[in-house]
Amino acid sequence: MIVVIKRGASAAEASSVVDKIKAMGFDVNVSQGAERLIIGVLGVRENKDVLAAQLASLAGVERVMPVSKSYKLVSREGAHADTIVRLPNGAEFGNGTVHVIAGPCTVEGRTMLLETAAWVKSCGATMLRGGAFKPSTSPYSFQGMGKEGLEILAEARALTGLPVVTEVLDPRDVPDVEKNADILQIGARNMANFQLLKEVAKSRKPVMLKRGLSATIEEWLLAAEYIYAGGNHDVIMCERGIRTFETATRNTLDLNAVPLVKQLSHLPVVVDPSHATGKWELVTPMARAAVAAGADGLMIEVHPRPSEALKDGFESLTFAKFALLMDAVRPVARAVGKPVASDARASV
Ligand code: PEP
Ligand code: MN
Repeated sequence: MIVVIKRGASAAEASSVVDKIKAMGFDVNVSQGAERLIIGVLGVRENKDVLAAQLASLAGVERVMPVSKSYKLVSREGAHADTIVRLPNGAEFGNGTVHVIAGPCTVEGRTMLLETAAWVKSCGATMLRGGAFKPSTSPYSFQGMGKEGLEILAEARALTGLPVVTEVLDPRDVPDVEKNADILQIGARNMANFQLLKEVAKSRKPVMLKRGLSATIEEWLLAAEYIYAGGNHDVIMCERGIRTFETATRNTLDLNAVPLVKQLSHLPVVVDPSHATGKWELVTPMARAAVAAGADGLMIEVHPRPSEALKDGFESLTFAKFALLMDAVRPVARAVGKPVASDARASV
């Protein structure tokens, strides 16, 4: 059961609600987000309606939501309204528009990142991606530029105004990544790294949580629950393909996940057709399909010279192909009533 505390409630009112729940014999998880305090009441098995009515009558309580799912705070149950994740440049994720996040797989140097950032912005991207700390399947492949890469990302942000999304691999790097990025990315290989999830939960920067390579929807939502329960309520889900028997593509893009996660949870959902397919030829068709399925955003790998890319060149779009992707996505986005964010803003 979830107890949502009113926005203007005093600290004394909130702690008195917690004390009363504990006195009734229940354990609690107190999640203090940037905007709201939410109390998870654990171990409620019987007389749920009576308890819900009792808790709803306490001073400072806004509403009480019974939740039957294993994931509680991120669940849609109780008719939770869509979460909107707000970024410093005014971008709002989950507000009924499609945000396009674009950039190279990896920050390979200053010039390539700055030229890519300027290009994707001119095409209508509203966020820049680029890995500084890279999770590599092989210990012998490029591991990223580390802190130097973060500084280059910060420079690109300052020059273009585009918010930056970059991956954090290690709990010890959270302070550095947080300083230079606007969204902390948890990569597929770390979706179930619970120490890392607990660490980013303490951050005040939004988190983009990629689906694990073989994670079920429930496991993915439970990973999001770790972040939410730990106090970070700005979580964006990212479907990036899952491992199946099929080897013709790098992964299999699970488009069911888009409407399903949006039905089960109030969190925004982004689709990454680059890692999902592993083939640049499939990126635009699957980006269009993702938008048609209701995605709140796309994450696209773009490189000035994909054939020279240190990582993931085969799934990266050239500048010209990225411009074509944007043109191909726009009419689909309009048709489903969720325009590309840069167009929506231009038309205000
Ligand atoms: C990435 O987006 O840079 C990445 C490594 O993707 P994933 O974690 O989905 O493999
Ligand atoms: Mn990549």
